[in-house]
Amino acid sequence: MLTNSDITELTAFRRALHRVPELSGFEVETAARVVAALGDAPDRVVAGLGGHGVAAVFDSGLAGPSVLFRCELDALPIQEISSAAHRSTIDGKGHLCGHDGHTTILMGLARLLARKRPAKGRVILMFQPAEEDGSGAAAVIADPKFDGLHPDWAFSLHNMPGCKLGECWLAEGPVNCASVGMKITLEGKTSHAAQPEHGVSPARAVAALIPALGALGQGGPLGPEYRLATITHVTLGEPNFGVSPAHGEIWVTLRTMLDEPMAALRAEAEGLAKAQADAGGLRLTITYHDDFAACANNPQATEVFANVLDRLGIVHDQGDLPERASEDFGRFSNLQGTKGAMVFLGSGLDHPALHNPDYDFPDDLIPIGTEIFHRITRQILG
Ligand SMILES: [Zn+2]
Ligand SMILES: [Zn+2]
Repeated sequence: MLTNSDITELTAFRRALHRVPELSGFEVETAARVVAALGDAPDRVVAGLGGHGVAAVFDSGLAGPSVLFRCELDALPIQEISSAAHRSTIDGKGHLCGHDGHTTILMGLARLLARKRPAKGRVILMFQPAEEDGSGAAAVIADPKFDGLHPDWAFSLHNMPGCKLGECWLAEGPVNCASVGMKITLEGKTSHAAQPEHGVSPARAVAALIPALGALGQGGPLGPEYRLATITHVTLGEPNFGVSPAHGEIWVTLRTMLDEPMAALRAEAEGLAKAQADAGGLRLTITYHDDFAACANNPQATEVFANVLDRLGIVHDQGDLPERASEDFGRFSNLQGTKGAMVFLGSGLDHPALHNPDYDFPDDLIPIGTEIFHRITRQILG
């Protein structure tokens, strides 16, 4: 268990991270602070994983399972609104998803492991970069430095406003949807607004695609067939009355509960865009962004969580799971030979929602999260 002075120091660490939020892929200072705070406590520290990721290995030196705990390093491009002394010092950026808290929880676990190594196997603390844009977990896994870090078990937690403080949502199977951002660019030719027939305008194609794309995924109750297509951004030409436009852009987020239906949804959306481009004589470019795999909890790993929560007397139920939102921890759960699960730790019923400008991670969750992960370590590795 963490001591009171651990908790005081960890809270200060969390608040220090909160002051200097860094965006996905740019977590230089955050990673440096993690490495500095770990010191020589781990048996091995691997930095620069998939960008600015850091892995700390606590090895028993004996054969046994590898147990990975994942947190995230990145913050969001959103202005924080707060009167707290530890509010963001960087304009337009804020730790508004609580990744500063998740990182601190793994630092708490590092303290406990430094005092007592696992009895067998090893623990890998994975400080993952770039979760918010869906690229970090995939980049870490693709990094050759990850080859020696393949886990048998992978666990993660995310704080969850709307769930009672210190209680948990836990469920086997799907917990977060797959999603991807699709950018459709249509390129024609400008002309004088008095002679639109001399140009090639994407206006008609853009107008047709907005409802057509939306119709591909109309939401409804979450289930294996679930599909949602949300138009997030549209541009057409320039703000100018004299010019018939050449350039049109539609951004649409595609979402499915499972990974398999995503391929079909993408193909249908591409087909619609191609038909409109062909009909309008437009050049079509499609690019994909923020690509999140679905996140599903392995039954055995979920059982481990349930067991530990019961022993700690932490109330848990399915809550609002699965969630429509995405989470790139799914990349770890999907690893061949890895049993992965994620739990959602309540930030309070009336806590501001994740990504809201007035959100802040509740410090009370630091010892709770640390203890959940610590118990898992002892249950699997002793
Ligand atoms: Zn987030
Ligand atoms: Zn998050």
